Amino acid sequence: MLEMSASVIVTGRKRREDLWMYFTFDVKDNNTLCKPCRATLAGKNTTNLKRHLRTTHPEIHKKIQKTSNDGPSQASGSAQPQQSICTALLAASKYKVDSKEQHAREEVIARWIGCTGLSVRTFEDEDFVGMMETVDRKLTVPKKTKISNLIDKQYEGEKQKECLLLGEYLFALICGPKKDSQLHSLP
Ligand SMILES: [Zn+2]
Repeated sequence: MLEMSASVIVTGRKRREDLWMYFTFDVKDNNTLCKPCRATLAGKNTTNLKRHLRTTHPEIHKKIQKTSNDGPSQASGSAQPQQSICTALLAASKYKVDSKEQHAREEVIARWIGCTGLSVRTFEDEDFVGMMETVDRKLTVPKKTKISNLIDKQYEGEKQKECLLLGEYLFALICGPKKDSQLHSLP
């Protein structure tokens, strides 16, 4: 018979791990075996399991209550999930890949790169990517190939005189609206 330790399923939920030290969930029969008394309980509802411990094994139930409120062990267990929540939030605050906002910025960056004659390999430079993401945290800095394609697309009919305007446009875009004096004081 295939028995599966339910503690595997609830990985990351430190609170329940101790409960599952005393039980084994059987996927096939959809019931849970209480290891201390070999009793079989229907399903794997933790409320039911806790009730079984409370009524049949009060001393184990007490131990589990204690562990759930244990600060340090919870902190170490939740470090990883918290980090991924941060990453998820960060990702959610980015412009959508297909959004107008993201496209507009990619276009401008491509024009800027095309006009300045900078290499598209700039987009492989960690410092550059870091700089772009710092100026606009919502921006997903496009990859080299994407910029390359955009530049190729824009190249036809592109006029040199537009470059200055575009540079200013880019500056305004990434730094927000600035007073003229500040714009012109740039090196
Ligand atoms: Zn039992």
